Amino acid sequence: MTSSTPPPHVALFPSAGMGHLLPFLRLAATLNSHGCHVTLITAEPTVSISESDHISTFLRFNPKINHQSLQVQPLDSSTDISDPFFKQFEAIRRSLHLVTPMLKSTSPPVTSIVTDITVSASMAEAVSELNIPSYVLCTTSAKFFSLVCRLPVLISDPVNFEAEKIQIPGVAPIAKSSIPPPFLIPGHFFVKELLANATSFPKFKGILINSFTEFEPQTLKALNDGKVMHGLPPVLPIGPLPAVDYPIKEVNEESQCRILQWLDTQPNRSVIYLSFGSRTALPVDQITEIAKALEICSYRFVWILKLSKVDKEDREDLVDILGQTFLNKVKNRGIVIKEWVDQEKILSHSATGGFVSHCGWNSIMEAAEWGVPVVAWPLFGDQRVNAEVVVDAGLGVWDRSWSGQRVVEAEEIVKKVAEVMDGGEMIMRRAELVRVEAMRAVGDGGSSDASYVKAFF
Ligand code: UDP
Ligand code: UDP
Ligand code: UDP
Repeated sequence: MTSSTPPPHVALFPSAGMGHLLPFLRLAATLNSHGCHVTLITAEPTVSISESDHISTFLRFNPKINHQSLQVQPLDSSTDISDPFFKQFEAIRRSLHLVTPMLKSTSPPVTSIVTDITVSASMAEAVSELNIPSYVLCTTSAKFFSLVCRLPVLISDPVNFEAEKIQIPGVAPIAKSSIPPPFLIPGHFFVKELLANATSFPKFKGILINSFTEFEPQTLKALNDGKVMHGLPPVLPIGPLPAVDYPIKEVNEESQCRILQWLDTQPNRSVIYLSFGSRTALPVDQITEIAKALEICSYRFVWILKLSKVDKEDREDLVDILGQTFLNKVKNRGIVIKEWVDQEKILSHSATGGFVSHCGWNSIMEAAEWGVPVVAWPLFGDQRVNAEVVVDAGLGVWDRSWSGQRVVEAEEIVKKVAEVMDGGEMIMRRAELVRVEAMRAVGDGGSSDASYVKAFF
């Protein structure tokens, strides 16, 4: 950018769910710090209070970022979609035509737009008349993204698609058991949406992805060599997207302080952190086994126990679920909490030595950024493919039978956690290498840093 060129003005449109919103907020802040004008467009009402809280606080602490709301019409009750986030994706798709007049009236004029993968087909259509470069921000792994890109071909060849290992040129094979079951159901609404979105990718100028070259080298190369999808634009890794520091309203300050102060008093890398993300509630029998595991093992721990799918408005007390005896037994060795925490503060703490994770992609990028080895415990959606990536990148371990299909027993949990916590130098060294590579990627002139220049300047 020369001094006479006006700065780019980037409009960002996340869809629904914290796992989609947070990387957009991070991208908004990063672009702003690179000198871009940024307009954040959010769909309202949001599905969860978490999302509206994050949006409002983020905007308050980043006053240079403009905001526009897109009012979406909630779907009527006759829809057969039950997942609240999928309902919202659909409601957004139906309202996206309203984005065009919004973008046309923005001053200074918008020079590019970044949208979420879940609504890419509708967005490509809505903004086509504006003739500005548009990008997709992919919030999952490059490996899962390559599966989505390849879906039209795979579906047209059911024999190959149903083989035990799915082959995508240039990409490590994907186990059939890692594929979300709806992908294998012809005509499933989720598959129809994915197909429409995948087919729209060639209409974009590029795909930004919250991953980094050194973490998924083979897959990113295959995508950019045109092996995975014909006509796919450049896939530009920009990860790990850095956290944005703002006081999150729903974080219970007292609980957060309690965790951080407690971590301050624990030895280096002695604590295992367990969290299954913002939208996954484990079945009660699985929660019981985790509690048993934490009781019989000797590790210190921080366990975020989410009891409901959307917001953390859980009525039940921890004591009702876990029992007073358990809480008493572990009280000097661990913390169980059901509120939202600032995860990055826990992962970046020197006392944290391991992360039992559902492999939501944001969590994996955060573990990579801070070099925390992962015990992968994927449950649904893209998480199993993400777990494959974790293992291939050397960031952690995964017992493939841990996939949300059965209750994993306490003894198994103890054994797997020990692989990370007592795994010795090897596992720590590999995670540390990932951290150094992540830091280089986003540093000046690094592979992810270079992608910003390619896309926006
Ligand atoms: N997160 C957090 N506190 C919580 C739960 C989640 O800060 O109590 C953040 C986490 O750091 C990550 C995001 O929420 O950035 C969750 O995204 P991810 O892709 O890991 O999982 P999802 O919630 O989409 O399943
Ligand atoms: N996805 C998509 N269209 C949809 C829903 C999902 O393309 O309508 C893809 C997208 O790549 C997403 C992945 O499927 O990252 C998993 O979806 P999910 O909503 O579970 O994402 P998460 O919130 O767990 O990141
Ligand atoms: N789901 C989701 N994102 C996805 C796929 C699934 O949020 O990308 C949710 C959705 O509510 C779905 C449920 O997870 O109904 C089960 O999904 P899936 O069939 O992939 O899981 P499995 O049958 O393997 O448990």
